[in-house]
Amino acid sequence: MTGTIETIEQQLLSEQQLAERVRELAQQLDRDYAGKRPLLVVVLKGSAIFAADLMRQMSSDLEVDFIGTSSYGDATESSGHVRIVKDIEASLQGRDVLLVEDIGDTGLTLDYLLRTLSLREPASLKICALLDKPSRRRVSIPVDYVGFSIEDHFVIGYGLDYASRYRNLPYVGVLSLKPA
Ligand code: 5GP
Repeated sequence: MTGTIETIEQQLLSEQQLAERVRELAQQLDRDYAGKRPLLVVVLKGSAIFAADLMRQMSSDLEVDFIGTSSYGDATESSGHVRIVKDIEASLQGRDVLLVEDIGDTGLTLDYLLRTLSLREPASLKICALLDKPSRRRVSIPVDYVGFSIEDHFVIGYGLDYASRYRNLPYVGVLSLKPA
C-alpha cells in the first residue's frame, strides 16, 4: 500500500497447466500409496488450493489435517525463523504422512517440519510441493514429489500470496515489486 508498485509481470503457469500437473501428481500418489491410508498434512495457508485440487483428484483412502507455520510476514525474503502457529490434531504415530506444501524455497520451512514431525514416529514422511525453486536452497531437503521446478521468481496466485493478497488468482504469476 505504501512505497511500492506491484505488477504481475507474467503468467508463469496457466490454470490448465496446473490442472494437468495436479492430475498427474494425484495419479502418481495413488500408485505409491496403494493399499495404504495416507495422512495428507497441508501446510497452511499457501497450499490450501493446491491440496484441495490434489486430494479431489486422488482416489486413495486418505485423511487430511492442517499445520500452520509462520513464514514471511509482508516481505518476500524468509526470515529463517520457522515456528508452528497451528498444530495437527491427528496422531502421526505409525501413519504414512505426506506433507503438502506450496513451494520449496530456501528449504528452511520443510527442513524444520521434517525434523519436528519425524519425532512423532510416522511410518513414513514424504513431501509433495507444487513448486520448487532449487536455486534458492539453503538446506538440502528431499522433495519427493514436485509439480514444477521454477526459476528464482517471487510468485503469487493459486494459493500463494504477497502480503495476504493474490491467493485467489487461478494461475501462478510472477510478481514484480518496484519502488514507487
Ligand atoms: P522456505 O522456508 O523454503 O524459504 O519458504 C517456504 C515458504 O515461503 C513457502 O511455503 C511460501 O509460503 C513462502 N514462499 C517461498 N517462495 C515464495 C514465492 O515465490 N512466493 C510466495 N508467495 N511465497 C513464497
